[in-house]
Amino acid sequence: MKAILQGAARPQRRRVSSRAVIATSIALGLAGWAVAAAVRAGSGAPSQRGGLPFTAAVVAGLVAHELLHALAFLAAGARVSELRFGVRLRRGVAHVACARAVSARGFRFVAIVPGVALGLAPLVAGVATRSYLVTLFGAMLLAAAGGDLMLVWAVRDVGPNASIGDDPADPNVILVANERR
Ligand SMILES: [Zn+2]
Repeated sequence: MKAILQGAARPQRRRVSSRAVIATSIALGLAGWAVAAAVRAGSGAPSQRGGLPFTAAVVAGLVAHELLHALAFLAAGARVSELRFGVRLRRGVAHVACARAVSARGFRFVAIVPGVALGLAPLVAGVATRSYLVTLFGAMLLAAAGGDLMLVWAVRDVGPNASIGDDPADPNVILVANERR
């Protein structure tokens, strides 16, 4: 029995530490905020204040972040019935997961899309148009992608056709198998 469990077919467990996720998110947020502050200082415009509309936009952006994960899962071949929406209390964030393992190629796509579309793209657009609030929005949503970045980092050595799934018992662990399942 032990020999079977230790066989090549047994998926590897890869842990993503909550501390690393929080540290990455804070680092991304601070870097983005510094860029936004530089944009505000360089724009010559009177200080722009976001207030409630800005806060609402960030909240809507966070919801859109999870929806983009869901759409990316569907694009990667998952079915709607396989998607799981939930809140990972240990990470303090909402999360979309897929009940079935996906290819490493699909996993990277699913992980990266919201951070690029809602974080990096507005950040770059904000700098290009000298808009402090657009840049700050990008910075906030880039910080929200810290966990996604750590997931991509955790499987950096995995080939594109390996399969990757969530460990149903531990939200901080992903399971990597070298062959399709
Ligand atoms: Zn995410």
